[in-house]
Amino acid sequence: MNEPLRFVLATANPDKAEEMRAILTEAVPGVELISRPSEVADVEERGDTFVANARLKAEALRDATGTAAVADDSGLEVDALGGAPGVHTARYAGEDATYEDNVDKLLNVLEGSTSRRGRFTSVVLVAFPDGSELVAKGVVEGEIAEEPRGEEGFGYDPIFIPDGGGGRTFSELPPEDKHALSHRGIALRTLARLLADSAGA
Ligand code: IMP
Repeated sequence: MNEPLRFVLATANPDKAEEMRAILTEAVPGVELISRPSEVADVEERGDTFVANARLKAEALRDATGTAAVADDSGLEVDALGGAPGVHTARYAGEDATYEDNVDKLLNVLEGSTSRRGRFTSVVLVAFPDGSELVAKGVVEGEIAEEPRGEEGFGYDPIFIPDGGGGRTFSELPPEDKHALSHRGIALRTLARLLADSAGA
């Protein structure tokens, strides 16, 4: 496969797009990343797996632009909740929930619980114009904090304490330290290796 290293970012979430840009430009020298055109309608995430939802988003943007598109679908799974919120992480506290609503709901549901293990998963998928795709996954294990801490990041970052982060939440880590540990960093660096392999094939 000799695709040019030019991708549309298939995410409508500006926080995820910023992280994808930072990680991909570091991991894939020379990559050109195009912002998601605002006129493309929101993609309904009706899949019941991260892979299915990443594919829906990447294919929608590839089809709308004719350019290879890279999507991330991600979420938080908490063991004590049987893996919830999982694919429903973005809308855990309701369709129009803010990050703060979601964090509040999770802290309330886990109140008093000493069983706070969980993990973030990111599936990144590139859909190419010729119909082929590349898929990579990243997982980071950790704990749900008792209360929000830190200012960096987005979403559940103030209450997620990644293993290997010295007990700090993602929001207490500088972005480059978060990316070194995070589900999205792992997934996108794996994707970079797959792209290099396919370019050399
Ligand atoms: P989706 O991939 O658009 O379905 O949304 C995933 C949701 O998971 C986001 O809206 C965030 O709430 C949460 N999430 C995903 N990755 C992260 C992260 O790196 N930090 C904090 N929250 C995240």
